[in-house]
Amino acid sequence: MKLTGNLLIGAQEVSATRGTLMALNPAIDAHIPPEFALGGVEEVDRAARLADEAFDSYNHTTLAERASFLERIADGLDAVASELAQRASLETGLPVAQLEGETGKAAMQFRQFATVVRQGRFRQATVDPAQPERQPRPRMDHRMQKIAIGPIAIFGASNFPISYSVAGGDTASALAAGCPVILKAHNAHPGASEVQARVIREAVAASGFHEGVFSLVRGGGNEVGEALVDHPLIRGVAFTGSEAGGMALYRRAQLRPEPIPVFTEMTSVNPTFVLPDALANRGREIGDGFAERMLVTVGQACLKPAILLAIDGAGFEVLKDAMIARVEAMHARTMLTPGIFQAYRKNVERQLSAGAAEIAAGGKGDGPWDGQSVLFEVDGAAMLEEPSLAEEVFGPAALLVRVADAGQLIALAKRFRGQLSATMHIDSRDRVLASSLLPVLERLTGRIVVNAFAHPQEVSYASIHGGPFPATSDSRFTSVGMSAIERFLRPVCYQGFPDELLPEALRSGNPLGIWRLTDGELSRA
Ligand code: NAP
Repeated sequence: MKLTGNLLIGAQEVSATRGTLMALNPAIDAHIPPEFALGGVEEVDRAARLADEAFDSYNHTTLAERASFLERIADGLDAVASELAQRASLETGLPVAQLEGETGKAAMQFRQFATVVRQGRFRQATVDPAQPERQPRPRMDHRMQKIAIGPIAIFGASNFPISYSVAGGDTASALAAGCPVILKAHNAHPGASEVQARVIREAVAASGFHEGVFSLVRGGGNEVGEALVDHPLIRGVAFTGSEAGGMALYRRAQLRPEPIPVFTEMTSVNPTFVLPDALANRGREIGDGFAERMLVTVGQACLKPAILLAIDGAGFEVLKDAMIARVEAMHARTMLTPGIFQAYRKNVERQLSAGAAEIAAGGKGDGPWDGQSVLFEVDGAAMLEEPSLAEEVFGPAALLVRVADAGQLIALAKRFRGQLSATMHIDSRDRVLASSLLPVLERLTGRIVVNAFAHPQEVSYASIHGGPFPATSDSRFTSVGMSAIERFLRPVCYQGFPDELLPEALRSGNPLGIWRLTDGELSRA
């Protein structure tokens, strides 16, 4: 596929109005052609107007039409998988094989959402028929379904250039809901973003949909991001990135004359609690597995296990030695961008000045932005004194906490801010302590893992990639998994409607054959 570097606003190719940028190959610190156009408020306005024009027709596509569109995107991603992975690898320093896997995951997500759309359950169709004889007063016919909230602005993430970027779960779930999407491409991978955007655009055209269903914009500085959040025709925002960026956009959206929902996924250290019996029996295996997962994708993953807490005792030194061995064996690797590399170095210094001791370091790299792995240790009492030790270090670093006893373990668990995930390693004699820890973890996080690691993430109906602030800005929702669609839907109740005026999902006789709640009972009747 030939890259033009243009902004892709609906079906139009739009050239730069605010200069251009080139992608950087972080492995060798060299720019890669072509030049990519940067836009501003005018281009956001064009895309938002088109998205608004597209909304009514797209929101009223049949379930079959919309599902086929999502499958077309999946097929398109499969067709460019190799080319996309090659380009994304040049722009991120991540291995081609890993990025091919990411493309496959992205395509799978679109197919999974096609199934969700066909099943129609996302509509949550609810029918409370009229009860004219009801006492003390009759009930009128009430019917409810969920509809799309409107055009959505999505900020592509830097760290997963496909599955959390242009063709990621946010885009798949918003399109599945019936929302047009304006995607702000991350400047760390503009070429990979264009390849994905062209696939989606071709699927829009092949489906015969309005061109405004999808646009890709790009900008330098904050102008484009701010214009998206401010635009009166944008009805919701999804974001993956830093806490500072996510909260700036969240606060901005609440100051609009008409505030809109902003779903941000920001920061998590995914604490791992190793309970005494598991530590004694499996210390080596757990230490090695933790360090292996922490180093995947050079530690630049939202689900990286970053803090391991274990009570000092049998197995502790074995676990620690296994972690040290794995970290020391790891050669430094290219980080995503110079900015992310510099932030990593700064945060490693922050851990040292907060009192963590460096107990292992990986090999140094040759590349300019190679992140060297580091393992820190601190004792539980010091960790309780210094909450900054529990902040995210985005990159290949982790912290081992030597905990004094069970009481201190629970106290430490209570001190964490909201998390995407938390993990317990337990064996049979850990049940009592696990039962005490569990309610603390339920308050802390959106996902609790037992005897495994949170990363990588499964995409399924029960998946939750969310949690209390600052993991996300709204703990009621997930950004991964089939229920991610719920972020982009809102309920509408139709009272006293004649059947022919009702949406198909709510008509008498259930012509779509979908699951509905009729007078409180689930059925397909
Ligand atoms: P970021 O700086 O938050 O940027 C993400 C996106 O939001 C970019 O497109 C950025 O635009 C835009 N943006 C950020 N702040 C904005 C503002 N105030 N107004 C308008 N637009 C704004 O995240 P990043 O570039 O991906 O990485 C930086 C740091 O984020 C990392 O070092 C890491 O700490 C954290 N991060 C965490 C996760 C996680 O899952 N936990 C994932 C990715 C990153 P511009 O690029 O044009 O500024």
